[in-house]
Amino acid sequence: MSTLVLTRAQIIDGTGADPIANGTVVVEGDRIKEILPGAPGRIPAEAVTIDCGGRTLLPGLIDAHVHVGAVDANIMEQQRMYHPSMLVIRTLKVIQEALDQGFTTLRDAGGADAGFREAVRQGLIPGPRLFVAGAGLSQTGGHGDIRLPTERRAPYADVSGLAMTVCDGVEEVRRAAREQLRRGVDYVKVMGGGGCMSPSDEIDTSQYSPEELRAVVFEAEAAGTYAAAHVYSSRSICNCVSSGIRTLEHGNLLDEKAARAIKDAGAFLVPTLATYEMISRMGKSLGIPDNNVRKINEAKERGLEAVAIAHRMGCKIASGSDLLGPMQVFKGMELELKSRILGPMGAIVATTKTNAELLKKERDLGTIAGGKLADLILVDGDPLTDIKVFQQYREKISVIVQGGRIYKNIL
Ligand SMILES: [Zn+2]
Repeated sequence: MSTLVLTRAQIIDGTGADPIANGTVVVEGDRIKEILPGAPGRIPAEAVTIDCGGRTLLPGLIDAHVHVGAVDANIMEQQRMYHPSMLVIRTLKVIQEALDQGFTTLRDAGGADAGFREAVRQGLIPGPRLFVAGAGLSQTGGHGDIRLPTERRAPYADVSGLAMTVCDGVEEVRRAAREQLRRGVDYVKVMGGGGCMSPSDEIDTSQYSPEELRAVVFEAEAAGTYAAAHVYSSRSICNCVSSGIRTLEHGNLLDEKAARAIKDAGAFLVPTLATYEMISRMGKSLGIPDNNVRKINEAKERGLEAVAIAHRMGCKIASGSDLLGPMQVFKGMELELKSRILGPMGAIVATTKTNAELLKKERDLGTIAGGKLADLILVDGDPLTDIKVFQQYREKISVIVQGGRIYKNIL
């Protein structure tokens, strides 16, 4: 079994504990064997050694809300612009770029099918471990229905990498959830309220009835997994939580009532602040229509406040970026934005440990601990004093290890 020894590292282990100043991490095969507070004893001759030189070693980052198939900023048009093969090829590029940014695990929040996950798992393409939802479920006129109000055609179906399925009523919704589960998804995604990047709904609405939502949750749980919901408004959050939805995505319009519901249910809030920041800066120049930029700005205004309320109420706060198209290279910005409420360490914990719990993978991922998979990044600098360091990933992330394999080493 191969041995990798990382010496002289400031170790931030992802649990929120104080850093270890000058520690060693020993990796055997694909897992972490042990963490030593100082220098290692005898290092086996055949071991690969990396002298971290005081740089900061962290668990590989996890982004719990991405759309790898969102290859363009204007996701409502991309299926009209590109052949399916082009969408797939550009999606592969997005996947690899996420690993380059130090994200060793991604949860795709709708659109990508299980084939992308398997391509990474089989080593056909370099990329983060993927967890996918396949096609997100949307009601007619909901967040996943990208028809303009003027269009009379049937809903779009099976768009490569960014698939949605429009379904209404308990029976259709149940069948759609079962269909996605049949196709090997890791969890089921449902649109529980209006969204920014859809043409015919507003963000302060709710979508789907409690009966429909309960049918989705029932089918997901019957298959041994869970359901996630896209939500902004308090009403949509409360509908979803009371129906058993486990992860609440975005939540920008959350109030105390909604936060209490999340807390009491032991559910997760997955704020996605970076995408609002970036679309409000770049969206217009990247071709996003005015109506959608308007909604983005409405959501952006309330985003930090929602995280503050959820934090104060004691909700479990996970982390996603939800970035689109060329903006997907700004994943590291999510930590900076979250740190404004949670502090740098809180932002790191959300992006590592809490995200691993959300994935139900806390035994394998999310912290630097003996027995866990060796997903590690080495950062040139101290993220506790400079949380922006993750955004300069090309120069500042010196080493990326995934499952004990060195993907990048520029030391
Ligand atoms: Zn999303």
